[in-house]
Amino acid sequence: MNAHDTAGSSGSSGPVDALARLFEGEGSAEYFGEAVTQAGHMLQAGALAEAAGAPAHLVAAALLHDIGHFHGTVTGRDLMEGGRDNRHSHTGADWLARWFGPEVTDPVRLHVAAKRYLCTVEPGYFALLSEASVHTLRVQGGPMTAEQARAFEALPGSADAVAVRRWDERAKDPDLPTPDFAHFRPLLEALLIENA
Ligand code: FE
Repeated sequence: MNAHDTAGSSGSSGPVDALARLFEGEGSAEYFGEAVTQAGHMLQAGALAEAAGAPAHLVAAALLHDIGHFHGTVTGRDLMEGGRDNRHSHTGADWLARWFGPEVTDPVRLHVAAKRYLCTVEPGYFALLSEASVHTLRVQGGPMTAEQARAFEALPGSADAVAVRRWDERAKDPDLPTPDFAHFRPLLEALLIENA
């Protein structure tokens, strides 16, 4: 992301504006065979978190969890289509860390691991996955071993990542109300770390 690109008008070069441009631009792309766009999926995840009464940092994590799919230099799409783990959760979290603290970035980083975790610890969770998500589970390493699941539980942000993951799974419904990005701007602005 280049802070000096596009948009032009004054007041549109802050972090939240950069995120808005990603949602409006790359986010309008198809989401790996799901019935919603990538941006629609993330907006729905944020809205589900909000409706559940989640704290602001967790709403932001849900809203931004797949940002690693957007960022031009991440190239997650190419890797995914090559059938490998694209690590979009890590690249997204690293990219967001310039603007947001670990309470936002840790759940983003762990949301793929959380799917592998839930498939191990919750009988029936696998059945909730969409077809595309089953495919990505396979390339992401499949369900965790019991030992991996225990290690995951010990990580900071893992419980929040599990919460994000549950909204993630539900946020692929074309009939679900979808707020626009502007709805979340005040919440995001309030979470920005100093000197962001
Ligand atoms: Fe997602």
